[in-house]
Amino acid sequence: MAHGATLIPGDGIGPEVTTAARRVINASGVRIDWDVVEAGLHVMDRYGTALPDYVLDSLDRTKVGIKGPLTTPVGKGFNVPVAWTRGGKRSPTTRYYPSISVALRMELDLYANLRPAKIYPGVPSRYENVDLIVVRENTEGLYGGIEHMVTPDIAEAIRIISRRASERVVRFAFEYAVKHGRQKVTAVHKANILKLTDGLFLDTARQVAQSFPQIQFDDRIVDNMAMQLVQKPEIYDILVAPNLYGDILSDLCAGLVGGLGVAPAANIGEDIHLFEPVHGSAPKYAGQNRANPMATILCGVMMLRHLDEAAAADRIERALVAVLLEGRETTADLGGSAGTSQMADAIIDKIQRGI
Ligand code: NAD
Repeated sequence: MAHGATLIPGDGIGPEVTTAARRVINASGVRIDWDVVEAGLHVMDRYGTALPDYVLDSLDRTKVGIKGPLTTPVGKGFNVPVAWTRGGKRSPTTRYYPSISVALRMELDLYANLRPAKIYPGVPSRYENVDLIVVRENTEGLYGGIEHMVTPDIAEAIRIISRRASERVVRFAFEYAVKHGRQKVTAVHKANILKLTDGLFLDTARQVAQSFPQIQFDDRIVDNMAMQLVQKPEIYDILVAPNLYGDILSDLCAGLVGGLGVAPAANIGEDIHLFEPVHGSAPKYAGQNRANPMATILCGVMMLRHLDEAAAADRIERALVAVLLEGRETTADLGGSAGTSQMADAIIDKIQRGI
């Protein structure tokens, strides 16, 4: 049986890395009916919005997808004419979002952003033993884009932290720990300064932790967390954090394991899972066949595991590791000299030869 899946190619290097991932997934033996839907800056002129309704409709139908990165101009957000509500009812609402990625996460209520950072054999890194999971709250914090000028010289942003969103993201982190045999969850916060907002997040995390006595729980202040991750990442396991800290720390963790080119992520909702690389659209590499497709290929591996296609996911991971260990047909950021499409070809070749 074929699985339906949405593919959003994205901006910049997005079309190249998503094409590579799609070819590798198709070669793994699983049948996917891809619904390719365009979103991003490059569709603004055609549809009058960077997030046309058909993208949300597609994900509502398929429940699963891979998204390439989307460019967000600094200093400018998006008024998204979201004539869409879950369950088929349409209402002509326009909402402001600071970016289209944020709009997708909020409109689809993809409340947890799961970002694994693991050292793969053959990937150059300063570290040897890193296997971390960052769980980032994905629907509130500073990402609602609630900003205004108080006076011409003073700007204000409002940061929302709710018990409901904190509770469900922390619960997700613990449930993930139980399901995947992980030992410890660390809540990351700045409750020493942000006593009410981060205080609420931390209190909620402590309460949720009581329901999971088999999993160790501790907490760290975010600045100390950043330092400790650089010094001794091996003592941490799962980190759960409000939106902004999770965003920043997951890029730091990507740096521990070889850079943004190797870091995948999953946006997780009640029923929709949207996988995307941690990296952005890297406009300076767009159209040059230089971007590393590994992060997006690993998104495919995560998607296949979610679809209960573990054998196909294993085939892709084995082939990827074989290519990484040979080290020739990898992209420049991994020390090789291959292009995006050549690296995908090399992985496909290994899958076809059963390596
Ligand atoms: P970026 O991740 O696009 O690039 C930063 C640097 O990381 C690049 O210059 C490059 O050296 C390296 N890099 C990133 N991806 C790589 C890959 N696949 N292979 C090799 N090297 C890679 O971050 P940025 O320059 O800060 O952002 C560019 C645009 O992307 C911005 O508009 C930003 O808003 C957007 N962005 C989108 C998402 C998303 O859609 N989820 C995430 C982050 C940034």
